[in-house]
Amino acid sequence: MAEEKQTLNFIEQIIEEDLKTTHTKESLYFRFPPEPNGYLHIGHASSICLNFGLGLKYNAPVNLRFDDTNPAKEEQRFVEAIKKDVQWLGYSWAKECYASDYFEQLYLWALTLIKDGKAYVDSQSSEEIAQQKGTPTQAGVAGPYRDRSVEENLTLFEQMKTGEAPQGAHVLRAKIDLKSTNMLMRDPVIYRTLHTSHHRTGTKWKIFPMYDWTHGESDYIEQISHSFCTLEFLPHRELYDWFLDQLVEGSKLRPKQREFARRNLSHTLVSKRKLARLVQEGVVASWDDPRMPTISGLRRRGYTPDAIKNFAQGIGVGKRDNLIDVSRLEFSVREDLNKKANRVMAVLDPVKVTITNYPQDQTEWLEAENNQEDPSAGSRQVPFSKELYIEREDFREEANKKFFRLKLGKEVRLKNAYIIKAESCEKDPEGNITEIFCTYDPKSKSGSGTQESLRKVKGTLHWVAINKAVEVEVRLYDRLFTDPSPDTHKDKDFMDFLNPNSLQVVTAYGEPSLGDLKIEDTVQFQRLGYFTVDLQSTKEKKVFNRTVGLRDSWAKLT
Ligand code: ATP
Ligand code: MG
Repeated sequence: MAEEKQTLNFIEQIIEEDLKTTHTKESLYFRFPPEPNGYLHIGHASSICLNFGLGLKYNAPVNLRFDDTNPAKEEQRFVEAIKKDVQWLGYSWAKECYASDYFEQLYLWALTLIKDGKAYVDSQSSEEIAQQKGTPTQAGVAGPYRDRSVEENLTLFEQMKTGEAPQGAHVLRAKIDLKSTNMLMRDPVIYRTLHTSHHRTGTKWKIFPMYDWTHGESDYIEQISHSFCTLEFLPHRELYDWFLDQLVEGSKLRPKQREFARRNLSHTLVSKRKLARLVQEGVVASWDDPRMPTISGLRRRGYTPDAIKNFAQGIGVGKRDNLIDVSRLEFSVREDLNKKANRVMAVLDPVKVTITNYPQDQTEWLEAENNQEDPSAGSRQVPFSKELYIEREDFREEANKKFFRLKLGKEVRLKNAYIIKAESCEKDPEGNITEIFCTYDPKSKSGSGTQESLRKVKGTLHWVAINKAVEVEVRLYDRLFTDPSPDTHKDKDFMDFLNPNSLQVVTAYGEPSLGDLKIEDTVQFQRLGYFTVDLQSTKEKKVFNRTVGLRDSWAKLT
C-alpha cells in the first residue's frame, strides 16, 4: 500500500484519500474550464492532460466548460479552436458546458444572497472601492452603500440587469468581512454591468458574474467533485467555499477546489493575453504560427499529440511554479518522430556535384529504407544521376582529420548510393564553390553485397539528383525569445527580447517522394531534422516547417 502511494502524484493522493472518506468512485467528476479568449497553449495542455488523464484513470466523466463571462474578450472562433485542440490531443468530454448557460441560475442565487442580506449594490467607483477595502495590513472600512435596504438593493440590481442603470454605475458585492486577512473576502464584487454583446447570449444580459461567483457555482451545478486550478487561485479557495456554504443543499455533492503549479516554458510565453499581443502586433502571422506555443501552432509545426502528452505527463503535476526548458519539449517530439517519421533526403543549402565518370543521360532508381526504426515502414526508390546536390557545408577543399565529409582527394558514401571521391572544384570570383567534380566507384552500390559496397568510408552524406529534384520552400524556426523568461523582467517589456531570427525561409531541393506528401505529414530530412508539410503548400510548391532539428543545437552554445 505504502509503495503504491509513492507512485501517485499529490492530486491522485487527494482523490484516493477522498475515496476512503467522503467520495465514492461514481461521484468522481472533473472538468477543464478554458476561457474562450484565445487559443490553448502548452500550459493548458498540462491542465488538459491532468483532468482528462484523471477521467481515464478513474473512469470518470470530464466536462469541457467554457468560462465565458467576459463578452469583451471572448469570441465564438476561440470556442471552435479550443474544441478542435482538445479533440486533436485525443480526449473526449462528457458534456460541452458554458458558464453563460448558468447566467439565469446565478442571477437567481444572487437574488437569494441579496434577500438574505449577504449581497448589496455598491455605487462607488472602482478606485473608491479599492481605497475602502484597505490593504493586507490594514483592515477595510464600510463604504456608504453597504447598508442599503434589501428593497433598494433589489431595485438597483434590477436596473443593472435591464440596462436601465448606465454601464459601470453600480456593482453587486457579497457582504462578507471587511477585516478579513484575505483581501478577496472583503466584500468581493460578484456582478458588474457590461453593455457589450456576448458571443452566445447576445444582448440579453447586461450583468455579468465575476470569476469567483461563477466558477465554484458552475462546478456545483455540474456536480464536479474535484476542481483543479493553478496556484494563484489558492487565496480564492476561501471565497469558493464561502459561496458554496450559501448554496449547497442536503444530499448534493460539494465540489472541492485544489491547486497545482502553473507550468511555464522557457523562451516563450504561456498566457493567452500576451500571446494575443504577438498576433495583434504582427510579430507572428497568426495564433497557429508554427513559432507559437499554442496547441495549433505546435500541430502546424509538426508536433504530435503523443509528443505533447508525453511531455506533459513526464513533468507531472507540481506544487510549486516551475520553468521547464523548451528543450524538454523538443526532446519529446524528437523521440516520438524518430519512431514514426519516414526518412527522406533533401538539401537545404545546395552545391552542385558532377560525377564525371557517370553516364550522361542515365537515371538509376535505388532502393532506400523508409525508417530503420520501423521495418513495417517499407522502402522507396530514390533516383541517382550524373548531377547531384549536396549541402554546401558538407564539402571543403581542405580540412583536418576530424572532417568526415567530402574533401578534395577523399571519399565519402552517398546515402543509399555509391562511394564518391572529390577530384576538383570550381569557384566564383568571390571564392564560393560553384561546382564539385567527383568520380564514383560503380561497384560500391549500397546493398549490392560486393566487396566494394562493404568498404568502410568515414562519412555518409545525403544528396539529391538534380534532374528529378522537387523544389520546396523550407521555413526554419527558432525560439521566439532570446531570454528564457521574457515576461518576468520588471523594467522591460517581453517584446524587448524577441529573437530577430525566429524565422528563416530557404529554397531547398528534395527527392521526388516529397511530392506525394500531404499537409501535416511529417518526415525526417536525413541528417537535418524533422519537417512537416505546412497548410500554405500549393500544388506548385510545397512548404515545409522545420519541427525540430536532429540534435539540440542550443546545447552546444550554452
Ligand atoms: P491565460 O492567462 O493563458 O489565459 P488562464 O489560466 O487564464 O491562462 P484559462 O483559459 O482560464 O487560462 O485556463 C483554463 C485552465 O487551464 C485553468 O484551469 C488554468 O488553471 C489552466 N492553465 C492555464 N495556464 C496554465 C499553465 N501555464 N499551466 C498549467 N495549467 C494552466
Ligand atoms: Mg484567464
